[in-house]
Amino acid sequence: MTGTPTRVLVLNSGSSSVKYQLLDMADGNRLAVGLVERIGEETSRLAHTPLQGGGGEKREKNGPIPDHAAALKAVAEELASDGVGLDSPELAAIGHRVVHGGLRFTAPTVIDDEVLAEIERLVPVAPLHNPANLTGIRTAMSLRPDLPQVAVFDTAFHTTMPESAARYAIDVATADEYRIRRYGFHGTSHAYVSRETAKLLGKAPEEVNVIVLHLGNGASASAVAGGRCVDTSMGLTPLEGLVMGTRSGDIDPAVTFHLKRVAGMSADEIDALLNKKSGLVGLCGDNDMREIRRRVDEGDPAAALAFDIYIHRLKKYIGAYYAVLGRVDAVVFTAGVGENAAPVREAAIAGLEELGLAVDADLNAVRSDEARIISPDYARVAVAVVPTDEELEIARQSFALVQSSASSNE
Ligand code: ADP
Repeated sequence: MTGTPTRVLVLNSGSSSVKYQLLDMADGNRLAVGLVERIGEETSRLAHTPLQGGGGEKREKNGPIPDHAAALKAVAEELASDGVGLDSPELAAIGHRVVHGGLRFTAPTVIDDEVLAEIERLVPVAPLHNPANLTGIRTAMSLRPDLPQVAVFDTAFHTTMPESAARYAIDVATADEYRIRRYGFHGTSHAYVSRETAKLLGKAPEEVNVIVLHLGNGASASAVAGGRCVDTSMGLTPLEGLVMGTRSGDIDPAVTFHLKRVAGMSADEIDALLNKKSGLVGLCGDNDMREIRRRVDEGDPAAALAFDIYIHRLKKYIGAYYAVLGRVDAVVFTAGVGENAAPVREAAIAGLEELGLAVDADLNAVRSDEARIISPDYARVAVAVVPTDEELEIARQSFALVQSSASSNE
């Protein structure tokens, strides 16, 4: 091997799972993808798919994997057996998804002890995510202490929001003391998708205003003006905003006092109710949009109401962000629901013709992995479907950072 290393391992460490991809940034190709799940349980599972040179069979291993260190070692073994191990000189960096970067981290950052300490300091505002991300980082650092490890933050893209959008209208001293403000999440996806949408329109990101609807199990909307985020629907935590698979989204905060005072629920119980037992699952018992649509088509009233509430909220955010942006070039759907659920796209845009928005039924029905426009030619505003790719974006940002630090050290 000659030349500079071009591979990036992307790690997305959750509380009981690690998702990973190995990419070669020379051509953007994926060399391997995989997942370790149920870490810490008896029934842990590793699924690894080699992709280089036409790819190979998916390999699965079942059996207890006690912790993240063991999970990453198992991943390293799989990669090594494909000849693309962690000790390879072709590996340029490990890129880590980190959920909460607060106000400090506005861009991808090479991780050192001080950065680790700051991510740790943010645990109170991201108690579910940052500890798992930190475990993944520390484990990867112990495996390759010599290699640049880069943190790519879910919140970074949203740090351009003006104070008028980022501040809650509460007592300023209290807000500042406890760092209460709107941070937003899914930023890596909003950044990638808004940029790809500009490309689809044949324009530079600076030239277009886009409303991005990231509709997965978690869901968020963002208003992006000339490549910069000016508003987003998630707030201090991912609970705010759209109706999601298991989260309520926007709710009168007095509901929480009411549940405490009248129902006698604890803060943890209310947290679990709003984050895990609300949204689509709370409304109709299902959070998978495929199942909900099947039930709607069979005439199930609970599923129909859940769908209507989901769409009503989505429409409200499209209207709100239209007003925030003033001029909109595209409304774009992404993530599991946004990319696949044609009925959601159709219903969310229906009735918005006065805003220049329309969906062409035939274009909307096409199933494809490609970025595409689904509005008719006459529509003033493009409606698009752009598949998100958070791993590619993390790899790109990590690679760009290590390349620029390498060249500035020369
Ligand atoms: P996350 O990353 O938030 O877990 P994804 O972006 O992978 O979520 O989206 C998962 C969701 O996408 C599923 O819960 C399901 O509701 C929806 N989904 C996936 N495929 C389809 C499909 N073919 N039709 C409708 N909805 C789908």
